[in-house]
Amino acid sequence: MLYVVNRLSAWFLRGDIVMKESGEIIPEDVRRLARSIMRHVMGRHRRPTLSRISMRLDHRAARLARPTEATQAGRVGWWINLSTMEPGKKIAVPLLTYDYHAERPGRVTNGVQVNLNREGQLTFGVVTDMGEACAKSRAEYDGRGVLALDFGLSTLFATSEGQLLGQGWLKRLRRYDALLSMIAASQQRAGKKPRASKRYRALVEDVRGFLRTEVGRVLNHLVEQGRPKELVLERLDFRNPDLSRRLNAILRNCGRSVIKSKLAALEQRFGITSTEVNPAYSSQTCNVCGYVDARNRGSQDKFHCLWCGHTKHADLNAARNIGERRALPIGSVFQSKHAVLGHLVATFVARHPMSERRPGLSRFGRSGQRGLPADPRTTNPYFGKVPPAVVRSSERREAPMKSGTTQALVAA
Ligand SMILES: [Zn+2]
Repeated sequence: MLYVVNRLSAWFLRGDIVMKESGEIIPEDVRRLARSIMRHVMGRHRRPTLSRISMRLDHRAARLARPTEATQAGRVGWWINLSTMEPGKKIAVPLLTYDYHAERPGRVTNGVQVNLNREGQLTFGVVTDMGEACAKSRAEYDGRGVLALDFGLSTLFATSEGQLLGQGWLKRLRRYDALLSMIAASQQRAGKKPRASKRYRALVEDVRGFLRTEVGRVLNHLVEQGRPKELVLERLDFRNPDLSRRLNAILRNCGRSVIKSKLAALEQRFGITSTEVNPAYSSQTCNVCGYVDARNRGSQDKFHCLWCGHTKHADLNAARNIGERRALPIGSVFQSKHAVLGHLVATFVARHPMSERRPGLSRFGRSGQRGLPADPRTTNPYFGKVPPAVVRSSERREAPMKSGTTQALVAA
C-alpha cells in the first residue's frame, strides 16, 4: 500500500486511494505512515528554491559580440547586446574576462546567463558548451584503481596512498571564525542580526569561495597524481569541534554541496566515479589487525594500535579503512554506528577469541606501558557490547555503554 501511495506521489493528497487489484481503500493509518515517512524525508533534504535559478537568454534577447577595439585595458572580452521592450533600443553590457576563463576548454555558445546575486546585483556571463571538451578529456583519461579519501580535522584530505593534502586549511578557517565572531558580537551589541552587516555577508562569501578553491585544488591535484578510476569517500560531514557553532553551520550548509559539485565535475570531465562509505569508527580501528579501541591514539596525529602495536598517521590509517569498507556491508551509509561497531568487534573476537593472549606483547615489548593490562579488550568498553553469543558472560567486564558515551568517545 505504501508502494502504491509513493508511486502515485499521493503522500499529502486528500481523498481515498483504491488498491487496483483488491478494490480495497487504503486505510488511514497507512496514509498517516506515508505522510510521516515523506515528512521525514523532506525534512532531511532541502526543497529546491526557485529564487536562485539563473535565467538564460538566447539569441532572440541577447547577442554576443567580440569587442572591435580594446576597452578597459583589453579586459573586456565580450559585449552583450540586450534587446529591450522598446524597438530599436539596445543595451550593451561589457563582460570582463579573466585568465582562467580564457584558458578553459569548451565552445562559447550564443547564450547569456543572467544571475541575481544575494546583494541584489545582476551579473552576466557567457555560456560555454563543455560537451565536446569533456568527451575528449574523458576519452584521454586512463584512470586505474581506487583512491580512498578521509576527511580529517587537521588535514583536508588523507588518501589511502599515503598523501596528506590541504594541510593548514583549519588555520585559515580559524581566522575566518575569529573575524565572523567579532562582527557578530558587535552587531549584537548594536541590537542587529549578523547578516545585516555587509562585511559579515562578504566574509561568509569568502569562506564559501575559500572552501570551493581549496577542495577544487586538492581534488585536481589528486586526480593528476593518482589518476584514479574511482574515489571512495567517507560520508562528508563538515563539522569541527574547534570551530564555533556559527562557522560550523556555514560549513555544513556549503561544504557538502561544494564537494558534491566538484565530484560531479570530475565524473563529467574524466569519468571518475565516487562512492560514499560509512566512516563510523574508521579512525579508531587498526588497519592491520582490525582492533577497534577509542584509545588507539598516540600523540596528536599518530595512530597507535594497542593490540598489535601498528603505528601510522591517524588520517592515513583511517583512509585505508575507508578504502576497504567500500566492499564490506559496514560500508553502507545506511548502517548505524552501533551496527558498525558490533560488526568490527564480532569480527575481531572471531579472529582472536577472548582467551587468546595479545601477541604484540613480546614483539613490541610494550607491556605495562600506560599501565594497560595484557589484553586491552578487558578495559575496552566496546568489547563489553558484544552480543552474549560471541562473548561469554564471565568475560563481560563492563556493562554495555549508553549510546551517549559512545558518541563522546567517537568525538574524542
Ligand atoms: Zn593493530
